[in-house]
Amino acid sequence: MQWEVVIGLETHVQLSTRSKIFSGAARHFGDEPNVNACYVDLALPGSLPVLNHSAVEKAIRFGLAIDATVANHSVFDRKNYFYPDLPKGYQISQFELPVVLGGKLTFPVQPKKGDPYVKTVNLTRAHLEEDAGKSIHGLVQGCSGIDLNRAGTPLLEIVTEPEMRSAAEAVGYARALHALVVWLGISDGNMQEGNFRCDANVSVRPVGQKEFGTRCEIKNLNSFRFLQEAIDYEVRRQIELIEDGGKVVQATRLYDPDKGETRQMRTKEDSMDYRYFPDPDLLPLEISDEWIERVRGEMPELPHQLCERLQSEFGLPQYDASMLTASRDIADYYVALAAKVSDRKMAANWVMGELSAAVNGVEGMTFGKAPVTPEILAAILGRILDNTVNQKGAKQIFAAVWEGEGTDVDALIESKGLKQISDTGALEGIIDEVLAANQKSVDEFRAGKQKAFNALVGQCMKATRGKANPAQVNELLRKKLGA
Ligand code: ADP
Ligand code: MG
Repeated sequence: MQWEVVIGLETHVQLSTRSKIFSGAARHFGDEPNVNACYVDLALPGSLPVLNHSAVEKAIRFGLAIDATVANHSVFDRKNYFYPDLPKGYQISQFELPVVLGGKLTFPVQPKKGDPYVKTVNLTRAHLEEDAGKSIHGLVQGCSGIDLNRAGTPLLEIVTEPEMRSAAEAVGYARALHALVVWLGISDGNMQEGNFRCDANVSVRPVGQKEFGTRCEIKNLNSFRFLQEAIDYEVRRQIELIEDGGKVVQATRLYDPDKGETRQMRTKEDSMDYRYFPDPDLLPLEISDEWIERVRGEMPELPHQLCERLQSEFGLPQYDASMLTASRDIADYYVALAAKVSDRKMAANWVMGELSAAVNGVEGMTFGKAPVTPEILAAILGRILDNTVNQKGAKQIFAAVWEGEGTDVDALIESKGLKQISDTGALEGIIDEVLAANQKSVDEFRAGKQKAFNALVGQCMKATRGKANPAQVNELLRKKLGA
């Protein structure tokens, strides 16, 4: 039997506000337990929530970026459940009337087999809610502690339609969503700190069947690799179960990255179980058209807009443009560099090649923190373009700056003796010597072998210890050989 996979994602994005969504306590990761928990977060009787303006503004920003409807009227509800890290006994969320409705996201997909392609997924909604605290187990033997620093952290929960058809599509979507929220400046997007967590709803059905199969929801996947692995495992589990005559039970599952498998946490509760009702402590959220238009006016250029501009204005190929807009980090670097380098394609090649390799080679490195800044790289590329150094010499300078040997490009060219030999007279002398010493290659070239020509160029480069201007060597050689 041929199976089709169906996936819908719910993503919790922590918003990068200074304070919490309903209190003035600091939203800050990594502090001593409970130092960022005020009476609202502790749910002391009589304390009242006050909505954070900046959290709402970030939700509006997101809605506009994905072409959604920002609701003029939305409502905060209480979602009732018991857990030690939730002292109120309910989470403030939005249920029937969320702040963002609809919208869509387009992203590249790298399938396991076959060519990359572009996919668009429709979003159902995005709503504002508060994060819970954290239980910390084993700090004192046999005991668990409660840390309420995270309680009340603003979350935007972003829900897709069940439109993804493979783990690769789910990962493509999650990556693009992550890049977008960081780009918009609404989240730090730090996945190790839990700023961005996906729940994957997964089901399978026989190819051709209209109705969806029964789904399982895998909770709290906080890396793209775990998302991929958890879905792959879950799909295999469900197919084997059905093919063995069993039935998928709707349930919430957890992924164990050490074992590489998902296991059941609880059978799925229905939304009825949560007894949602409007929170009487909070007024409905009214967002005026003027407010929406003001936020629209403050929107940065979006990744897909910049991607188009890099193609139309700078003449970059679509592939380059999409690589250079895959994150705010790389895009900011490239835009700063391209402002200083006339050859935009060459600048793109260096950012995607030499620079990306260097950045990816260092744990925790970013383009923004790279020791070879856009200014320095522009100076290096400028010296290629004015024929002071060749590509090889430029790479040596790049490496020297990266390793902290200095930042003055011209001084490094000087001290490393990398100035290329562009003096025609000097080059001709070297070429004559090379031709005299390599008669065999000369004969082969005359007999029509192009390879022999390349070998001669190689010999000339070697004779100058890589410092000759390769284009010039080519030209002079052809002239001498009468080619
Ligand atoms: P709940 O609120 O109970 O989690 P929803 O109906 O809002 O359920 O769906 C949550 C997520 O599950 C959405 O992303 C949706 O696209 C996805 N989903 C719904 N049905 C299926 C299914 N049969 N297979 C895979 N995903 C599904
Ligand atoms: Mg859900």
